[in-house]
Amino acid sequence: MTNPTVENLVIIGSGPAGYTAAIYAGRANLKPVVFEGFQAGGLPGGQLMTTTEVENFPGFPQGITGPELMDRMKAQAERWGAELYTEDVISVDLTQRPFTIRSEEREVKANSIIIATGATAKRLGLPSEHEFWSRGISACAICDGATPIFHGAELAVIGAGDSAAEESIYLTKYGSKVNLLVRSDKMRASKAMQDRVLSNPKIQVHWNTEAVDIFGNGHMDGVKIRNTKTGEESKLHVKGLFYAIGHTPNTSLFKGQLELDEVGYVATKHGSVETSVEGVFAAGDVQDHEFRQAITAAGTGCMSAMLAERWLSSNG
Ligand code: FAD
Repeated sequence: MTNPTVENLVIIGSGPAGYTAAIYAGRANLKPVVFEGFQAGGLPGGQLMTTTEVENFPGFPQGITGPELMDRMKAQAERWGAELYTEDVISVDLTQRPFTIRSEEREVKANSIIIATGATAKRLGLPSEHEFWSRGISACAICDGATPIFHGAELAVIGAGDSAAEESIYLTKYGSKVNLLVRSDKMRASKAMQDRVLSNPKIQVHWNTEAVDIFGNGHMDGVKIRNTKTGEESKLHVKGLFYAIGHTPNTSLFKGQLELDEVGYVATKHGSVETSVEGVFAAGDVQDHEFRQAITAAGTGCMSAMLAERWLSSNG
């Protein structure tokens, strides 16, 4: 169970942030150990394992499937000597160095850690949600909005915050009309964003409205909605439904061990990937409320490996 050697660097997570960190750390000869995790449907590779085409990752002008992109990143990390364990980390001890990282199978000590455990888009738990996930339902308008099936089609967005407002406005580039479903009679979005939504002729806000279920045959034909005041139910015919109800950062392991922000993301120094614990860095969606893209995750993965290398050469 116990590995007596102290590793230079342990990376937790195998999305674009984790694998990019592993590629850079491997090339810096740090021999990184990666706990890939298998939370996304029992496979390593993170959120992109659950999608089909990725059209906006540079270098792939014809697009690439999410699983193929992640397989390539993994192969590149292995090529540079990363040791990969397809195991979930079940606990960490960041109170003293070397840090301790445990899975069901092993315990590893390391002088530095990169946390790249990502975030999970919240779902509503509608009865047919699973059937239509990625067949009409998406949790990322920037990622999926340009999909040909949504061009010129009527679409819907669920949410009431800034993300819901932004996604609705973004989707008006593609959809013939965007229906924004707001559960109460007000939005939480900033006044400026609300004004932009309300003045956009392609957006119709449905106040006091919640989704009850999805209907369709293979692909979504629409959403069954309910008026939260009257209880009256009706059908909205849309080809796409975009959830903008928030994400849950995968940070439960780290609670009480380093600083998290008010909504549970790992807090990092402004413009950096350094956390409140020296020698521990965080990359990708686990520390990013705002952009949540594969390329930004890869970018911060690169930053975290370069900072870990610098930190180890002064403290390792
Ligand atoms: P993730 O990809 O979330 O990976 C986190 C990793 O951490 C996973 O491997 C997980 O198993 C692991 N992990 C978690 N907890 C533990 C633990 N305890 N121990 C070990 N490992 C753990 N972005 C784009 O740029 N373009 C797109 O087209 C696009 N499409 C998307 C489609 C869908 C359906 C989704 C859900 C997202 C999409 N995104 C897209 C967003 C993109 O996937 C994320 O921004 C990106 O994957 C974030 O990378 P990450 O490395 O931070 O985290």
